[in-house]
Amino acid sequence: MGQMYDVTCGACGHCFEQAVGGGWSWYNKICKDCGTLRPVPRNAMWTEDQNEQGIALATPEAMQAYLNDRSLWRRGPGFSDREYEILSALTARCTCGGEMVMEPADVMPQESNAKRLHRCPECRSNELNFIPSGLLFD
Ligand SMILES: [Zn+2]
Ligand SMILES: [Zn+2]
Repeated sequence: MGQMYDVTCGACGHCFEQAVGGGWSWYNKICKDCGTLRPVPRNAMWTEDQNEQGIALATPEAMQAYLNDRSLWRRGPGFSDREYEILSALTARCTCGGEMVMEPADVMPQESNAKRLHRCPECRSNELNFIPSGLLFD
């Protein structure tokens, strides 16, 4: 379950809403270079009757189709090792070429803003001021 923030950019003054930490059925990966966020499902795909096996996503094509349709992301079974490997490979790179990593759950400055991965969508600065504004329920 994520936290909503009202964020103000210290560089350009842009204000925006940011959800951090994902939801019940998904989380974000974030680009180490440009700060682009990408939602990733936590669980594999359920069948309609939600039987224990779920639906196999053991090819890149099946996994990509699953990634493309968020309406399918639910509290399904865990990914198999093979599925997780494919999922990781498909979500390893940002469109800018940067490396996508797990979004840090803590957005408050640690040692300095320079270590923060979240960035302003307008100017890409990471001098951001986060004010908690509520909880996110998927
Ligand atoms: Zn900005
Ligand atoms: Zn990027």
